[in-house]
Parts: sequence; C-alpha cells; structure tokens
Amino acid sequence: MLSTSPLTAIKGIGETLAKNFQRLGILTIGQLVDNFPRAYEDYSTVLPIEKLKPGLVTIEAVIKQARGRYVRRGLHITEAVASDKSGSVRLVWFNQPYRESSINKGVSYFISGRFELSRQRLAIMNPNIELVSQFPVNAARILPIYRETKGLNSKQIRKVMKEVFMVMPKPTESLPLWLVTKSKLMSRAEAIRAIHFPSSTSQLEKAKLRLGFEEVFSLCLASLINKQENIEEHALSIPFQEKLAKDFVKRLPFKLTDGQRLSVWNIYQDLSRSEPMNRLVEGDVGSGKTVVAAMAALMVLKQGYQVSVMAPTELLARQHADTMYQLFKPLGMENEIDLLVGSMTAKQKLKARQAIAKGQAKLIIGTHAIIQENVNMKNLALVVIDEQHRFGVDQRQALLAKAGHMPHLLSLTATPIPRSLALTLYGELDISVMAAKPAGRQPVITKIVSPNSRKQLYEKIETEINGSHQVFVVCPTITDGERLETRSVEKVYEEFTRGVFAHRRVGLMHGRLKAAEKNSCMEKFIHHELDILVSTTVVEVGVDIPNATVMLIENADHFGLAQIHQLRGRVGRSQHQGYCFLLMSDSSAPSKRLLALESSDDGFRLAELDLSLRGPGAIYGQLQHGQLDLRIANLSDYSLIASARRAAEEFLGKGENLLHYKQLSANIDRLRAVTSLN
Ligand code: ADP
Ligand code: MG
Repeated sequence: MLSTSPLTAIKGIGETLAKNFQRLGILTIGQLVDNFPRAYEDYSTVLPIEKLKPGLVTIEAVIKQARGRYVRRGLHITEAVASDKSGSVRLVWFNQPYRESSINKGVSYFISGRFELSRQRLAIMNPNIELVSQFPVNAARILPIYRETKGLNSKQIRKVMKEVFMVMPKPTESLPLWLVTKSKLMSRAEAIRAIHFPSSTSQLEKAKLRLGFEEVFSLCLASLINKQENIEEHALSIPFQEKLAKDFVKRLPFKLTDGQRLSVWNIYQDLSRSEPMNRLVEGDVGSGKTVVAAMAALMVLKQGYQVSVMAPTELLARQHADTMYQLFKPLGMENEIDLLVGSMTAKQKLKARQAIAKGQAKLIIGTHAIIQENVNMKNLALVVIDEQHRFGVDQRQALLAKAGHMPHLLSLTATPIPRSLALTLYGELDISVMAAKPAGRQPVITKIVSPNSRKQLYEKIETEINGSHQVFVVCPTITDGERLETRSVEKVYEEFTRGVFAHRRVGLMHGRLKAAEKNSCMEKFIHHELDILVSTTVVEVGVDIPNATVMLIENADHFGLAQIHQLRGRVGRSQHQGYCFLLMSDSSAPSKRLLALESSDDGFRLAELDLSLRGPGAIYGQLQHGQLDLRIANLSDYSLIASARRAAEEFLGKGENLLHYKQLSANIDRLRAVTSLN
C-alpha cells in the first residue's frame, strides 16, 4: 500500500464511494490522510444516564424496545429506550427506518448524540451507536468532522479512515530531527494519527501545534529562500541623481509628506544596488502612492530604461496615464508615456506594441493587457504594480518575465498587512509604510443613516453641489431584482434623473457598460461635467477626483469593511471636507463593522479590527488567491509564527540541504510560487 495508491485499494471502497471522494478532490490514499478534519465534536466522556445534562453526550447502555413508525408522509421516527445501572433515557432518530431492525437488544453500546428536549421530554437525538466490543469510530470519542459532499458524510469518512490507518505505512518524518527535538514537537506520524483519531483534547492540541508549525515553517522557509535567490540575481543599477529628484519635487503642486519622502529615499537606495529591489509601499487610501511611483520611474527613465506600471482596472490605468502625463510634462518627458489597455482598437494596440518593442515608449501604463504574449519590452528595468493585492501571482510573474532578466519591483497597496503575515508570506519583501495623509486633509466625516432620513441626506447633497462639489453614489447591484432588498444603480439613477436631482447632471456607471461608455462617463465626471455619479463598486479602487466631497453608499450593510473604507477613500482627497454616508437597508441596528467605520478613518486600525472580526482568510482571500492553504495554523498566532520563523532561519543558517527532506522540499517548491512576488 502506497500513499499514491488509489482509494479502491482500501477494503470497503468501491467505485461509487471512490467517485464521491473524487468530488472532494481526494483520489489517493495520501490525499485521504492529508484531508484533515475541519472541526471536532467531543463525545469522549462516557457518563451514567442519571448524570446527563443537555448538550453532546455519550453513554454506555443496553437498548430495548426500539420501535419505528411513520408519523406522516415523509417523516419517520424511531424511538428506543436505553438503560444503564443508573437509569433510562429515550433515543430518537428521524428518517432512519433501518434502526429498528439493526439494533441488537441486550448488548452494550456506546451511544453518542445531542441530549435535548423533544416534545417536552429530554432525549438523545439522532445518536450514533456502536458496539462496545468494537473499536468505536463514530461514538464515545472526539469525533472529527470532515468536509462532506453528496453521498459522503463524516460518519462514512471516519469508517474509511479506520481502514486506512490499519493498512497504510507509518508516515515518515518531514522535518529535521534536531528541529523536532529542539522545538519539542510531536512526530509527524503521531500527529497525523492524532488529527484523525485524537485520544484526548490535549493530544489533539499537540497534533495541531505540530502540523501548524510545519505549515508556517515551510512558508517562512519558502519566502527566505526566495529572498536569498533574489539577492543573487543581477539587476540594472540605477544611480541616484539628486538634482533630478529635487527638480521634480520643486515642480509638484504640493509638499511631499514624510512618508512619501522616506519611501522614495528607500526606493532610490534599492535601485542603486545591483540586486533587484523588491519593495512594497503600504499606504492608506489617499496617502499619495502614485507620486512615489512616478519618482521611482523618473530615475529609471532618465537612464534610458523602460518602466511599466500595471493597474488592476482600465479606469485606473487611464487615470495613472493622465497623472503621469501631468507630472512628466514639465520635464518634457510626456512623449515617452504610452497606454496599453484592452479596450483600445487593434490598430492602437499594434502601434503601442511597436513603440514598446522599439523602446520609444518608455513609461508603459496599462492593465493586464501589458502581460499578453505579443508585448515585447526593449529594456524593462522597473515594474510597478499598483494595488498589488488585486493581482494573482501568475499575472505578476508574467509581467516580470517580460523583462527577460530580473527587473526592480515596486508594489503599492492600500491593504495594510499585519506584521505576522508580512513575516511569513512576505518575508522576502522590504516594506515602506506611509502612515500619514498629506497635510491639510480633514478626516472624512462618516455617518450611518437610516432610510427614513433620506430627505435630509438629499438636502445635504444639494448643499454640496451648490458649493460646486461632486457626489458619488454607490449601489450594490446594477439592475433591480438581482437581490430583492437592495437598491440598484439603474433604479437610483432613474429616481434621481426623474425626481429629486432632475435639475442636476447625473451620470450612470457600472461594469456592464462598454469600455468606451465607461471612459466617457469617467471623463465627464473628472472634468466636472457631472455633479453626481451613480455607480457600482467599479469606482472602488484608486479613482482620484479631489473635487468629490460626498460618498453615499446605498445598502451599506451589504458591503464589507475593507470595501467601504476603499470607497470612502474616494472623497477627502483635497482640502475640502469629505463626507461618507452609510445608508442602511432598514432601520435595524447597525453592525459592528459599520459602527467601526463611523468611529475610525484609519485603514490600518480597521484592518486589524477586520482581522479579529472575520479572521485572516476573509481579508487576505484575494491576496492569497486560494493557493495559500493554511489548514491548521492561525496567522494571528504570533508566537507560533515567531518560533517557526526563527527555525527557518536556523535551518538555512546551518547550511541544511533541502534535498535531504523530500516532502518538505516538494511542499516548499509549491509555496515558493505562492509567496514569491517574482
Ligand atoms: P493613493 O495612495 O490612494 O493612490 P493618490 O496617489 O491617488 O493616492 O493621491 C491622492 C491625491 O492626493 C491625489 O490627488 C494627489 O495629487 C494628492 N497628493 C499626493 N501627495 C500629496 C501631498 N504630499 N500633499 C497634497 N496632496 C497630495
Ligand atoms: Mg492609488
């Protein structure tokens, strides 16, 4: 029996059952063993019947008087009485007619189930029963709960697991022995057995600790190896030209913030080295990351090399192209800029590609259109990825491959990454944090609004428009009827243009419009030919319209915390006071996350809160693209992460060769692709 053997090699697994397992992605014995439970229910304590309290219980008892009947069509009930020395208790099963005839009367069973009220009397509901004389699988122990699918429940999986553990070879140790000893870890063999068949809660905890440690250790090791290799790569060294930077800054219409200056300084130092830069700039929405990217590009362009800037949406790419045009025009460099996005005509694209290949286009701004195969760069030296978390690993890798060698990489993100995550996933990254917003910005005033205050809200919008400002209105859906209780873009647009805001210039924007329509609508809003833009969340990232002062979010309760914070970041981007109104679907009490948004404007604090409300998976889902598969470890377990990180450093410090650890090294190859930004 090998870990690569098919499931049908196990006694009791036929073609049908194997097919069901296949639906869970489980084809081999190895995958079956690797399919860790997602939760547990503790039925390990066997109590005398007289001591039972409502909840999950186990008794050891004899069953008599099992009787089944149909109470009505489709509802069958089996009732039985179980007794031990201390007393008797009722057992009830719904729709399990086979129970009546399958129970052996007069022999001892372990009976595990939920003890609760049923028709005014306490009973054990739908219990699992197993003969005491056998090794119990579904009763009287800590029961693992597995992912289930049609035709395959945890009960069946547990039975299969018992067979597997009887025949499979003992799992080999994957970690170095010195590490297992030093960190006082359970052996891998013991941990794997305990995760499926825990004999006690404390044993289960130790097993989780061991397997979680291995996960985080592998992640840290993967990212440290990436870092080492990155350092060995050779990049084009870009000398720092002080005068150039100073001239650029002098022409800016504002003074750089400390965070911006420090980030730019870090970047210039990185660029001047001969190993590739790999830096992430983290700055809350509106902190001014674009100008930092422009200054990085400036130094590289002046050396005659190409720079590409990749943005997640076309709107954003076009906006960046405009911004860069404004920033570089005073230096006479505006002709070096070229845009490459999906909605351009074939002819326009061809022209852009030719200019790029010849090196006439030096600052290439675009969406993922840039990473298409027929785009060839002449001498790409710097890659800037805006809103880094929105791109998948594959897309980032494809862009880097365009260079033909390792270019410098600058990633920008508004998603603050907590230290724990940065240490594991992004251990290879250097990070610059821009904590403060530009001077003179007032925090956006955020208010939760109940639907019956809509009229006052509209009056406020009137006032803002009278003051020559602009308004975003964001709705969760495009058309009515997609979700019953929500207000759609089309409906709100209709209401506004026919009613309250008939005398105003209102625009409509959503993802189903043609690219040309979207662009022209956005252009109009930018040039203040529109007062109100009714939109879906397509305006969520990056859009920069300093004259907009109101962000009204319809059905705010339908949006996530991070998403609303991003949307709110569309206003308050100038010296004007910004407002964010969170309009509720009804007048019920607002959720914790809406209250948090009302009381804080700080993206970093909100991200921590989101982490505690929803856990890392929910927030970093996009960032991980489902590939980072932490099944056991918890990324908020800071001490676990710290010790695993130290162990990974020690492993490399000892000059250990990964090739001696077959399992570990296979795992690390996979993880390196996930964690690497290049
Ligand atoms: P984000 O970090 O969200 O990408 P942007 O780069 O789009 O932010 O900048 C937001 C707005 O702030 C832009 O209009 C930009 O011109 C302006 N800005 C950037 N830096 C400063 C600064 N130091 N002082 C004042 N305004 C600034
Ligand atoms: Mg931005």
